[in-house]
Amino acid sequence: MNILLFGKNGQVGWELQRSLSVLGTVTALDFDSTDHCGDFANPAGVADTVRALRPDVIVNAAAHTAVDKAESEPEFAHTLNAAAPAALADEAARLGAWLVHYSTDYVFDGSGTRPWTEDDTPAPLSVYGRTKLAGEQAIQQSGCQHLILRTSWVYGARGGNFAKTMLRLAQERERLTVIDDQWGAPTGADLLADVTAHAIRHLRQHPQHAGLYHCAAAGETNWHFYANHVLALAAQAQAAIKIKATEVAPIPTSAYPTPAARPHNSRLNTRKLQATFGLTLPPWQAGVARMLAEIL
Ligand code: NDP
Repeated sequence: MNILLFGKNGQVGWELQRSLSVLGTVTALDFDSTDHCGDFANPAGVADTVRALRPDVIVNAAAHTAVDKAESEPEFAHTLNAAAPAALADEAARLGAWLVHYSTDYVFDGSGTRPWTEDDTPAPLSVYGRTKLAGEQAIQQSGCQHLILRTSWVYGARGGNFAKTMLRLAQERERLTVIDDQWGAPTGADLLADVTAHAIRHLRQHPQHAGLYHCAAAGETNWHFYANHVLALAAQAQAAIKIKATEVAPIPTSAYPTPAARPHNSRLNTRKLQATFGLTLPPWQAGVARMLAEIL
């Protein structure tokens, strides 16, 4: 199997380089790759890359993920999150290739407390959410065989993430406040990459299972509990932090204004993915503990 991976150096892209390697030959590109265009600012260029390499499977881990920055550069975010994936999808349809793509809980407005299902109606609150939704829709309308995994609160041992920020702040500061009214599940880039590899194998045998799925670690938390959890594990590992988990003060989102509005309810119902692909998604704490063991 020939696999073409875009966004190879992102959190998920990095882990995909590992997990996809057992499925076949992987050509992995970044925005500044020189042999072939991997720059999503150039949708025609990435389409040319697909035409030249004729992969069996395209995996797209590239995206404009700077949620607040996207508010001030909506056209650029649209190019990266919607126009380039649309160009890939059109080429995949022409070629008969599979397209695997990632989307986000931010396509929802965050109302209620029930975990969102794939049948719920998206209503994004931000430029990032709107452009990611436009990307999903373009792929669905292209007619290509596709797998779209909507996920939430991604972290990896490589790259910046919330847990690392909390550890840094807990080393520098005497006081820390963290939002306690946005709920979701931190999801490891390694878990997403492993699910992706498994799903690709499954879909080659069962193409009728193509489509959109929610994929996140099991359980739920809010950013405040998540921070407490990280600092408690760091204290156990005797990391040099000044703030104890119990000293992190909870605050409402309204006390921490950001350019982009974020959903209060980012819970994703993952039953469809688990039932269709025969997978069990582990509790979020398991992956976070592994990541901390790697970085502390
Ligand atoms: P990252 O930001 O870690 O990775 C995105 C990658 O895209 C980076 O390597 C980035 O490069 C690259 N990129 C940026 N601009 C371009 C460009 N012009 N052309 C090609 N590549 C470019 O994100 P994640 O790995 O966390 O995200 C993977 C997927 O998961 C995305 O689709 C994202 O929308 C989705 N997702 C992520 C969530 C999260 O919390 N991170 C939550 C829910 C969904 P560089 O770093 O050099 O800018």
